Amino acid sequence: MTYDPENIFAKILRGEIPNNTVYEDDWVLAFHDIQPQAPVHVLVIPKGAYVSMDDFSANASSDEIAGYFRAVGTVARQLGVEADGYRMLSNIGDNAHQEVKHLHVHIFAGRDLGGMIKRFRD
Ligand code: AMP
Repeated sequence: MTYDPENIFAKILRGEIPNNTVYEDDWVLAFHDIQPQAPVHVLVIPKGAYVSMDDFSANASSDEIAGYFRAVGTVARQLGVEADGYRMLSNIGDNAHQEVKHLHVHIFAGRDLGGMIKRFRD
């Protein structure tokens, strides 16, 4: 996958379209998902142009990687979800139905989130 600078999260990072920001620092922007699938549904994106976790881990600097993962934890604590629990999920590529081709981690919380993954059926 190649990075498309016209993807919607790139536009959010450039301030071209609005977002409901939860947290921002030098490395990340976190904002509420526009179509929440749980009472808490927040997206955490790196500010750099990375399509996926494999792209990010191969090409981002150590500072970017540390900054990103520290921020994910900071956001979870800021949301107050660590006591009852939460789920982090990152969809990568077609099999995972990744819609927006800019790396993002979803944070879901606020209800029982059910089983880990859709069960396989023949
Ligand atoms: P994914 O399938 O993992 O790529 O998920 C992309 C997510 O981005 C979906 O949950 C969308 O609801 C969300 N999304 C798309 N556009 C926006 C937007 N403008 N602001 C906030 N969330 C968005």
